[in-house]
Amino acid sequence: MTEVVIALDVGGTGMKCALVRPDGTVQHEERHPTRAERGPAAVTENILDVAESLAATARAAGLTPVATGIAVPGVVDEVTGVAVWSANVGFRDVPLRDLARQRLDMPAALGHDVRVGALAEARLGAGRGRRHVLFVAIGTGIAAGLVVDGSGYPGAHGAAGELGHVMVRPGGSVCGCGQRGCLEAESSAKSIGRRYAELSGASEATAFDVATRAAAGEELAGQVWRDAIEALADGLLTAQALYDVGVVVLGGGLAEAGDDLLRPVRAAVAQRITFHRSPEIVRAELGDTAGCLGAALLALDSLQGDR
Ligand SMILES: [Zn+2]
Repeated sequence: MTEVVIALDVGGTGMKCALVRPDGTVQHEERHPTRAERGPAAVTENILDVAESLAATARAAGLTPVATGIAVPGVVDEVTGVAVWSANVGFRDVPLRDLARQRLDMPAALGHDVRVGALAEARLGAGRGRRHVLFVAIGTGIAAGLVVDGSGYPGAHGAAGELGHVMVRPGGSVCGCGQRGCLEAESSAKSIGRRYAELSGASEATAFDVATRAAAGEELAGQVWRDAIEALADGLLTAQALYDVGVVVLGGGLAEAGDDLLRPVRAAVAQRITFHRSPEIVRAELGDTAGCLGAALLALDSLQGDR
């Protein structure tokens, strides 16, 4: 019988779900709404129901589900398997790993969405074959995951990798965390769109609009884009000073800008390098499936101790 793991990547609006073989091949994919507005208890039930139905789908296809991996945003204690805190899903100390273990009667693992995404990019994506990988997800917010020799680093309290809240512009834009000038408030896709809308008088704009207009030579868009890139380079240099990685993998929605992002970021980081050793800076390869694949890897890893 072919074994598979059940993988769920739970976001604020949607859940990406899959059945994944031990070699990382995706056997089956589903997407479901998270329905965060119904509250954390209902979201938890929804997660467990979806996982249970994926197990049934696997069995009906002649596959054997052997473990479950779940990725969630916020503060996640991977050792105890508790979703400690999440702004957009509403979790407060939910023992999601044990709940999944009980409901599905198989080993389970819980991870942080960006840190497991980092694990997937390091083992299966753009960081393949590299020993020291920093994955930086730039979307609505900015967060990072450090992977060394194929293992993620969660931190003492499940809160490692909050690169988005490193201050890069003292006195700068107000951040969701309450500080000013955090990397996330200067360089996230959301803040780039907002900044351009404010300065141009447009009712709204996305980072994609800004990148496109900048590439087409529009001056204001070019300035907003360059400011964001400069702030990002300052953040990445801080990360490099701390971690000295071999490769930085840029992912999340902003990475869709491709070379319009990579080229100026590489140049801005190179300009700032003094004693640091330069990391290679590359684009993520797994897109928005990284979290789901990472959840699968965590589930597979959880079996190692049991066998
Ligand atoms: Zn912040």
